[in-house]
Amino acid sequence: MVQSPSASRDIPEGGRCLSRLPKADLHLHLEGAMRPETLADLSDAHGEPTPQLGNYSSFDQFQCCYRAVVKMIRTRTDLRRLVREVVEDAALSGAVWVEPHFNPTTYAPTLGSVDEVLDLVLETGHAAGETLGVGFGLTLSASRNRDPRHATNLARLAVKYASHGVVALGLAGDERAGSAEAFKDAFTIAREAGIIVAPHSGELAGGATLRNTLDALAPDRIAHGVRAIEDQALLKRLADAQITLDICLTSNRALGVVKHIKEHPLPRLLESGVRCSLGSDDPLLLGTSLLAEYRLARSQLALTDSQLAALARASIQSSGAPDHVLTPALHGIDAWLGGR
Ligand SMILES: [Zn+2]
Repeated sequence: MVQSPSASRDIPEGGRCLSRLPKADLHLHLEGAMRPETLADLSDAHGEPTPQLGNYSSFDQFQCCYRAVVKMIRTRTDLRRLVREVVEDAALSGAVWVEPHFNPTTYAPTLGSVDEVLDLVLETGHAAGETLGVGFGLTLSASRNRDPRHATNLARLAVKYASHGVVALGLAGDERAGSAEAFKDAFTIAREAGIIVAPHSGELAGGATLRNTLDALAPDRIAHGVRAIEDQALLKRLADAQITLDICLTSNRALGVVKHIKEHPLPRLLESGVRCSLGSDDPLLLGTSLLAEYRLARSQLALTDSQLAALARASIQSSGAPDHVLTPALHGIDAWLGGR
């Protein structure tokens, strides 16, 4: 079984209280952020055994576990509960903005048309966020393992919903599957409409694949991107272009990108001038939370409060949050750093 997120609270927390640091989670996957008890409830309700998660020996196995979680969402009520709880958990981590990766076509036509599914998720997220002071946006998530035309359709959907809370277009799946070039059209559509371009890359593959993603998709952010550490020229390119890496420490350890959190390149990425945010990726599958990731950055990587504030600032500035969320969040970060 995966470790409970609450176990992270055992890590001693020196300095300023990290739950009070305003921050955004830009790198989490909606279904992967389900609560363990919700997974158990839904499995029970649908008469299925609860999927067993943890100890991933490969990315394929990890994806298989993810799909097992997705299969337990079978009604509109299930999906509403998931979204509401993801926003509640973001608030518990001190997030003021959450931007989950999500693909509405997974649930269409079972739970309604693609538009109906998207409306449900956005309306639930906005309503939950309003009472908790958490802004909610969506990253529509295409897959490298599917026909690129699917990504192009998602890009058009993102543009259609740009004024309703879809803020970014992502690309998940196995980056070793092939060139990012095939997805160029989709990301061009998104970029031209002012949608944030935020594909995964530089996690399972190194510099060549990351460079290919940069050349083909011209991203604003990269989900992971940590393998840039293997290539000085790439580090400089990321720093010069101020492309944000949405880093997930626990995820990188669980999938073998690093052996131990203490060896994670985040401090060296920051020293190289690369802008980084912290995200939780898949809290359910990884036994983490956004707050736990900040605590790990402090306790395992010895990041200073100033560096932690810089991660939070990057998460807000690189997000799709509107000004009425962004401005007070940035003031809040300054106030957090200014006080004790
Ligand atoms: Zn991810």
